[in-house]
Amino acid sequence: MRILRSTRRLSDWSQALHREGVIIGLVPTMGALHDGHRVLIRTARASCDAVAVSVFVNPRQFGPGEDLSRYSRPFRSDAALCRQEGVDVLFAPPPEAMYPPLFQTSISVHRLSQRWEGEHRADHFAGVATVVTKLLSLTRPHKTFFGQKDYQQAIVVGQLIEDINLGVKLVIHPTVREQDGLAMSSRNAYLTPAQRRTAPILYQALLAGKEGVDAGIRSGSRIRTIMLKQASAQPTVTVDYLTVCHAKTLEPLSRVRGKAVLLGAIRIGRVRLIDNVMVKARQ
Ligand code: AMP
Repeated sequence: MRILRSTRRLSDWSQALHREGVIIGLVPTMGALHDGHRVLIRTARASCDAVAVSVFVNPRQFGPGEDLSRYSRPFRSDAALCRQEGVDVLFAPPPEAMYPPLFQTSISVHRLSQRWEGEHRADHFAGVATVVTKLLSLTRPHKTFFGQKDYQQAIVVGQLIEDINLGVKLVIHPTVREQDGLAMSSRNAYLTPAQRRTAPILYQALLAGKEGVDAGIRSGSRIRTIMLKQASAQPTVTVDYLTVCHAKTLEPLSRVRGKAVLLGAIRIGRVRLIDNVMVKARQ
């Protein structure tokens, strides 16, 4: 496995492979790799000739007061996991390689970025869209792999790819969970043991909403109430949002028809967790 730190090296690698007709897959991450990332890498490995993983804690997607400085950066174990999974290139640039002093461009996917996570994390998705555009331009992959865990992010990236004709296939992998249902996340490591025991409440609330839809409830506000009631059973939890929305536009639904997504974000102490569940309302 090659570890590349400069953007030039990454684009040289990609250009050489393109000349040979090699199918390239890219898995963008912020490192602190866990089994959720591992399945994305395996999925990429299974359908591409060459796999690049980026490990970059992107400062532009963190707001003031967020966890940029304390975000875990266990580079040696990340590299070991990538090696184990047969990754060809690990791209781990320093921030100044991605954002040199004269850097001044921002990519924004406007409407999709404003809701939900965007309401709680101003500029977050502009940071994501900008770094993803750079990573895709440098790697020029045929396929790129994202997790459903960050549903809004995956939808924003899908729209970005379509809007500016990036010509890469987006593969969205289902969320990988711990045994008790908690979605795997690098941020779970911040939870104290007591908070960790509480954390599955988010998935349980989303599942309660899904059970409601499966039982024939179609009113968006009733489904929201069911989810909120479940989450509020834990007094240490603050709900940022629990909602039912259109699976593509992410607009909140007053009535559920066809496919929809239940999105949720809660805070337990200083830790913020997000999750989602797809639902389908049968006629
Ligand atoms: P991150 O390092 O948290 O930015 O995540 C990098 C990629 O891994 C994103 O596409 C995430 O959606 C995906 N990912 C993170 N956690 C999970 C999980 N539990 N299951 C599936 N994909 C995940």
